[in-house]
Amino acid sequence: MSELRKLPAVDQLLGERSGSALLEEFGRGLTIATVREVLDELREQLKHGERKTVPDRDGILEQVHQKLIEKTTPRLRSVINATGVILHTNLGRAPLSKDALQVITEVSAGYCTLEYDLRRGGRGSRSIHVEEPLCSLTGAESAVVVNNNAAALLLILSTLARRRPVVIARSQLVEIGGGFRIPEVMAQSGAKLIEVGTTNRVHLEDYREALQTSVALVVRAHHSNFKIIGFTSEPDLHEIVEVSHERGVPVVDDLGSGALLDTAQFGLAHEPTVQESLGAGADLVCFSGDKLLGGPQAGIIVGKAVLIEKIRRHPLARAVRADKMCLAGLATTLLHYLKGEAVQKIPIWQMISASAEKIHQRALGWRESLGAGEVISGRSMVGGGSLPGETLPTSLLALELSEANRFLKRLRELPYPIIARVEEERLVFDPRTVLPEQEQAFLDGLNLVLKSTNQTSQKKRKNPL
Ligand SMILES: *Cc1c(COP(=O)(O)O)cnc(C)c1O
Repeated sequence: MSELRKLPAVDQLLGERSGSALLEEFGRGLTIATVREVLDELREQLKHGERKTVPDRDGILEQVHQKLIEKTTPRLRSVINATGVILHTNLGRAPLSKDALQVITEVSAGYCTLEYDLRRGGRGSRSIHVEEPLCSLTGAESAVVVNNNAAALLLILSTLARRRPVVIARSQLVEIGGGFRIPEVMAQSGAKLIEVGTTNRVHLEDYREALQTSVALVVRAHHSNFKIIGFTSEPDLHEIVEVSHERGVPVVDDLGSGALLDTAQFGLAHEPTVQESLGAGADLVCFSGDKLLGGPQAGIIVGKAVLIEKIRRHPLARAVRADKMCLAGLATTLLHYLKGEAVQKIPIWQMISASAEKIHQRALGWRESLGAGEVISGRSMVGGGSLPGETLPTSLLALELSEANRFLKRLRELPYPIIARVEEERLVFDPRTVLPEQEQAFLDGLNLVLKSTNQTSQKKRKNPL
């Protein structure tokens, strides 16, 4: 009990020189609340006998400082992705190009022409910033951009199929990840699902039959993140379009990734492009901005002008609209495609197109700089619900460690956290997804953890206790 009485008061602590330094750095409210938390914790520990003595004031203030640092370090922060998964959904999908970042900064640091027409000096439209480039790149009549592709699909269905039947193949009732399920989004929009075919096989005849009744839309959803193999079939998009248009029913193609470039030129399977879907006659095509397009999070809808106009006027469009940062980043990303410099300027295409030789050289450089590990061959993945099972040959720096998972944890605790993976009990680092400007920070961080691990294991050897 006497020990409890030795706990200093809040004012006493803050009267100390290091206490007032905390007040200065972290602000009054947060610092006082944190001092109280630490004192409460100490009190509980003393009461329950988990602690015998009260630390001195500097010791308590050091605990407060640590807690304040934890509380004020942003949770959303930059990390180094050494996993080799290019579109890593948990790590924020596509990194943006330098130009896109610059325009985003300029546009959001001050005022901008988000909805202002400089020529007329009056109200303008926020969609024009991306509509023109999207149309010239894809050949679409019109385009609209919303918050993400899930919102795009919801908006399309709410506008064109509320309380009305929508045809979709059973093989396409997919879950994309994070609990996003195509059938649930469709139900949410108020559309009535008409499922056709079976899980593995869908025939054109199935569509034709379903279209005998009055139908609002036919939806095709790209498989994106899984493959069905074996005894399977699905009609081609142009065939689905043909039978649907015979009955005057528009076709929506949810492409998911929505590549504008042909992935086959980089040794990957061919991911269907937006241009192909429109060419096959789809009336609307929707896709994400931050998958294989390599831009910011966005849902992009392109297609027939009459349909896009209806979508744009739907009340939900306002609820899911894109903000100025998204539009600035997207417009600049699209410019890279227009200028034919997408592969050189957009990070995900730089990563996809990086030559095996260049990656091997980087891995060798890492080995040399660290003086540790071994360069082995491995595979990088596209990820992000694109090209399931498809990999790119790569070179990895591999470290043989007894406690790989503990090492991974220490890498994550670095000021600039490094995310890596374990493969066959070795820790591996893929140069493909480490941005060139992060390379030094990566090597410094890895070096630091390697050194401290060596020291502790040496200590262990010297002193077996
Ligand atoms: C990824 C994906 C979505 C969801 O896109 P978000 O931009 O993440 O909302 C929807 N449909 C398909 C087919 C997808 O692959």
